[in-house]
Amino acid sequence: MKAKTTDDREIELEQNTLDGLRMRLRGPVFFPGDAGDAGYDESRGVWNAMIDRKPALVARCLGIADVIACVQFAREHDLLLCIKGGGHNIAGLATADGALMLDMSLMRGVWVDTQEKVAHAQAGCLLGDVDRETQVRGLAAVLGFVSQTGITGLTLGGGFGYLTRRWGWTSDTVVGMEVVTADARLVRASDDENPDLFWGLRGGGGNFGVVTGIDYKLYPVGPEIVGGLVAWPASEAPGVLELYRTLAEKAPSELTLVVLMRPAPPAPWLPKDMHGKPIVAILACYSGKPEEGEKAVAPIKSFGHPTGDVLVRRPYAQMQALLDATQPKGRRYYWKSEYLSSIEPALCEKAIENAAKIRSPHSAVILFQIGGALNRLEEEHSPVGNRDARYVLNIAGAWERADDDKANIEWAREAWKDMKVFSTGGTYINFLTQDEGPERIEAALGKGLQRLAEVKARWDPDNVFRTNRNIKPL
Ligand SMILES: Cc1cc2nc3c(=O)[nH]c(=O)nc-3n(C[C@H](O)[C@H](O)[C@H](O)COP(=O)(O)OP(=O)(O)OC[C@H]3O[C@@H](n4cnc5c(N)ncnc54)[C@H](O)[C@@H]3O)c2cc1C
Repeated sequence: MKAKTTDDREIELEQNTLDGLRMRLRGPVFFPGDAGDAGYDESRGVWNAMIDRKPALVARCLGIADVIACVQFAREHDLLLCIKGGGHNIAGLATADGALMLDMSLMRGVWVDTQEKVAHAQAGCLLGDVDRETQVRGLAAVLGFVSQTGITGLTLGGGFGYLTRRWGWTSDTVVGMEVVTADARLVRASDDENPDLFWGLRGGGGNFGVVTGIDYKLYPVGPEIVGGLVAWPASEAPGVLELYRTLAEKAPSELTLVVLMRPAPPAPWLPKDMHGKPIVAILACYSGKPEEGEKAVAPIKSFGHPTGDVLVRRPYAQMQALLDATQPKGRRYYWKSEYLSSIEPALCEKAIENAAKIRSPHSAVILFQIGGALNRLEEEHSPVGNRDARYVLNIAGAWERADDDKANIEWAREAWKDMKVFSTGGTYINFLTQDEGPERIEAALGKGLQRLAEVKARWDPDNVFRTNRNIKPL
């Protein structure tokens, strides 16, 4: 079988070499053309159907010992290595042609320590796995908005969601990580152990090793919260955006507000005659006491003439999965994203204009509110930086057919050009698409890049972990 080396050479792996790898692992190994290749396509597939790469072989690791054996095997043969968590990265960073892919999807255990209020989650967990186990105890980790996203990619790039305003970027709430390093050693990274590595992992992506487990600080949340959506016809967008702007500015940190402008999806809570027509919606989550939440969202529920309203008391875990159906695996996706420090009326006008030009039933212009706890930490606290960010603008193109790539990518790029003037100058590393290069990585990690290169030199001087937003060792 042909495979790629770290310096892009093609090499031949003999059958007995592959058999040797199989014997060293508890988990299965898949490669195309092999009798046991049934899992190969499932493993190599990622969320964004624009990405179609073919690793030489896939190892589904079933524990830390498997991860160590894979890193050793990759080093012995100088193989290109890629690591798949949830496979949700829009740029498809989890997969690479000719590589040995470590698919972490069998490592989804979660252990909750109620005394210390910490969850230990294995690196293959999806967000929903952690929410499910922590909510049983009335606790929650600070995670993202879609329950099928992988915890590890999200956390290694920063991470934000409904609890960010109270407790910071996801990576701010991590108390430790277990990592298999480039020389195949298992180490712990925390404030007390290997603090330089710990710093780098909280924003520097998978550059420093294979993360096998993450310890998250937990906070009391739910199980019942007030959350959901109210939607209006797009004709009411100017008033709704002004309401959003003013409510968000004075919102307590328990309240997170998101605006979505898009064609109405065929959701049962929206009337059939609205499906496909342009709407504006406010997504709200009040993660404190439900009775206070009901008061906080009352101005949203009583505004204008909504076409649908599912902003109610509901389980927090359900809230975490509310957007899942709108983001299925297998569509084609292209995003452009910026951080904002405020919402200006002029930005609202531009958002409305660009939402009116959407070319697909699945695309959206989205404003996420994130300001709060993350603004209170020092810029140098972790490489995620961007401590001046209060909102995230995401111009989210989504469509079905390859023939429509050009029109939808063009829409996203044009809308971005029109709106990037409102940016802080910073952007979110985890939202960068595959065509975004060094200047965009600099916009995301700018102030931390030099220090990240120093950490890289210490922990991965040969750049074994390179199929990511790669930081060259200094
Ligand atoms: C529908 C959708 C919704 C999203 N919502 C949010 C949100 O609300 N908040 C937010 O902050 N982000 C969000 N994101 C962005 C998300 O954080 C990134 O896409 C992230 O990369 C996903 O992590 P993953 O593990 O699924 O990714 P993967 O594609 O599996 O991996 C991404 C990167 O992480 C590396 N990696 C994965 N596992 C490991 C490991 N064990 N060790 C070392 N490196 C590893 C990979 O090698 C790759 O470089 C969303 C993405 C999607 C598609």
